[in-house]
Amino acid sequence: MFRLLRYFSLASGIALLAVGLILVVVYRQTSFNGMVEGVERENVALSRALANSIWPRFAEYVKTNAPGEGPALRGRAESTGIDSVTRKLTTGLNVVKVRLYRRDGLTVYSSDFSEMGTNASQDPIFARSVREARPASQVRLAASITGINGNLKDRRIVKSYLPILGPNGTVEGVFELYSDATDNAATIAQRVTFLSIGLVWAFGLLYGVLFIIVRRADMFIKRQYYDLHQDVSDRLESESHLLRTLEQAETANTAKSQFLAHMSHELRTPLNSIIGFSEVMTQEVFGTIDNPQYLEYAGDIHASGKHLLCLINEILDLSKVEAGAMEINEQTINLADAMRECEAMMKDEAKKIGIGLTLAMPNDLPDFRGDPLRLKQIFLNLLSNALKFTPPGGTITLGANQNEAGGIQIAVADTGIGIAAADLNRILLPFEQADGFLEHSDSGTGLGLALTKSLTELHGGKLSLTSDPGAGTTVTLNFPPERALTTQPELPLGR
Ligand code: ADP
Repeated sequence: MFRLLRYFSLASGIALLAVGLILVVVYRQTSFNGMVEGVERENVALSRALANSIWPRFAEYVKTNAPGEGPALRGRAESTGIDSVTRKLTTGLNVVKVRLYRRDGLTVYSSDFSEMGTNASQDPIFARSVREARPASQVRLAASITGINGNLKDRRIVKSYLPILGPNGTVEGVFELYSDATDNAATIAQRVTFLSIGLVWAFGLLYGVLFIIVRRADMFIKRQYYDLHQDVSDRLESESHLLRTLEQAETANTAKSQFLAHMSHELRTPLNSIIGFSEVMTQEVFGTIDNPQYLEYAGDIHASGKHLLCLINEILDLSKVEAGAMEINEQTINLADAMRECEAMMKDEAKKIGIGLTLAMPNDLPDFRGDPLRLKQIFLNLLSNALKFTPPGGTITLGANQNEAGGIQIAVADTGIGIAAADLNRILLPFEQADGFLEHSDSGTGLGLALTKSLTELHGGKLSLTSDPGAGTTVTLNFPPERALTTQPELPLGR
């Protein structure tokens, strides 16, 4: 993981230190330069005063008459004269030494008499000052210096060469003034120290504040990282758990479907005998049954056997659908004929109860592409439900038409007891029945609608239920356009 705090501490520490050092160095340098310029300005002013007093009297001596050697120079009265003027003018000032050079660098006069006769022509600052006819200064630390007023130790000296210009601008001589800037330098050093301490405090404070902020951010990021990590692992774990559960459920479901399919198959064989033989008995094929009670029982056995067979068939069908083993045998079906057939099958029963059963379809109803047996099963399931839940005097309509998109819509509408809104979704599941259904019906398994829905979906269709309790129910099946086989009407032949 990215070590934010460590990198920040290192980088910002180095950055603040560097900025602090640069500030201190720049400040110190600027202060020193300012001090040197200031001292140089004072020296220029003093050199003018010296020139005004000395030059009119000693110019000729300095320029031409002065001897070339120290001992001779020290013995000259001009030297003493220049010295007395110099001492007078520098009294009370920081100037500790004064020299007067001939243009070629010969020290004609020095407040330190022992330096008279030496030559400064090799000093590059002297040479520059003469060449450019401008003052030139330099700071240096003097361990020991013989000053106008005695010996001095460890002084910071600003040394300025100040050319004396003649009427035509040429350099005729050069003053050299030594100013004692030790106090100024000490003040600067003190300010630099204050600045450094101030910066250490300010930057330290800044560093501390930033450190706290970054540390909190770092902790926050780390916590989020761990939470996220935890969250992801939790999710992965629950996902794999879900997958395992799903696999188990699927395996269990397949096992259940296979078991049901086997059981149903095994049950049907004896059941067919029960139904067949009980029917033979009720019809008294092999002779009369004297006791009417036995006849009644035989009738009950036959009815119950048929009901059981119906139930088993439905279970078998549903388990086939769930196991994905149900195949539809696609054929072209005359939809109108299929509907008429189913209506005919249910008509007698409807009449018996006193319910009107009608068909509603256009003349040009297209053929249907699907499994004829399954389609009839769908119709009969829906019609028998409608019959079961419609009281006498009601009506049932089996309708079909082609919608605008070309799909086929089939609907079974009744004026029966209806279904409460809360039960609408539930009753589409296997073995689910609406509350209180027993009051209205004496038979039913709760499988019919679930099977009808699955069979519809196997044909690519959708089943929907609308119901108004007390007013009736409509079950609508919407099949996609590819289920409709429209035969183009033959065009009359033109002449
Ligand atoms: P069964 O009719 O065998 O109980 P179904 O799956 O066909 O099973 O129907 C489930 C339940 O849905 C029924 O028990 C009944 O409560 C309700 N139902 C189905 N069709 C209608 C209908 N046309 N009118 C009112 N209720 C209905």
